[in-house]
Amino acid sequence: MRLFLALEPPDDLRERLATLADLAQTHCGGRRVPDASLHLTLAFLGEVDEARLPALVEWVSGQTPIGGVWQLDRWGSFRRPGIVWVGGRTPDPALGALQAGLWDGLQALGLGVRPARFVPHVTLLRRAAWTAIESLEAQTPVALDWRWQRLTLLRSYTEQDGARYEALAHSA
Ligand code: ATP
Ligand code: MG
Repeated sequence: MRLFLALEPPDDLRERLATLADLAQTHCGGRRVPDASLHLTLAFLGEVDEARLPALVEWVSGQTPIGGVWQLDRWGSFRRPGIVWVGGRTPDPALGALQAGLWDGLQALGLGVRPARFVPHVTLLRRAAWTAIESLEAQTPVALDWRWQRLTLLRSYTEQDGARYEALAHSA
C-alpha cells in the first residue's frame, strides 16, 4: 500500500486554500487538487507491505507533536510535473524539526527513503502552466497561517482522475 504522513488543514484554512486553488487554476489551468485532498506532506513512505501497517499505526498514534504555526506567504512551482503550490518563503524551524524527527523514527522502523531536502508545500494544481504564477504572485499575495498539531497517516489510491487519500491513523 502507498502511504505518506501529512498535516491536514483545519476547515477554515482548507476553504482558503481551496479559494487559492480556484484562483490559481484560472491563471495556470491544470488539474486542481480536490478540497478534501489538500495537505502538507511530511514524509512519503511509498509502497509499504501491509504486514508493517499495525506497527506503523501504533507508532503514529504514539506521536505527540508540539505543534506550531506555519506561515504561508508565497506561490511556488515544481517545473517538471507542472505543480503549483503555496508555501513559505523561509524555512520553518518547527516543521523542519518535525520532519527530521519523523524520519528518525521511520528510519528506525526501516520504512521509506529519507529525502535529501524538505520543501514544505501545499500542492494546489498538477499539470499546470506553472510560469503563470508570476502574475498570481503580483495580483494575489499569499498570507495564511496554518496552526498545526496532529499528524495523519494517509493511504493513497491511484485512480484515473488523480489520487484519492484515506486516513489510517492520527497522532495525539
Ligand atoms: P498523483 O501522483 O496521482 O498525481 P499524488 O501525488 O497526490 O497524486 P501520491 O503520488 O500517492 O499522490 O503522493 C502522496 C503525497 O506524497 C503527495 O503529497 C505527493 O506530493 C507526495 N509524494 C509522492 N511521491 C513522492 C516522492 N517520491 N517524494 C516525496 N514526496 C512524494
Ligand atoms: Mg504523485
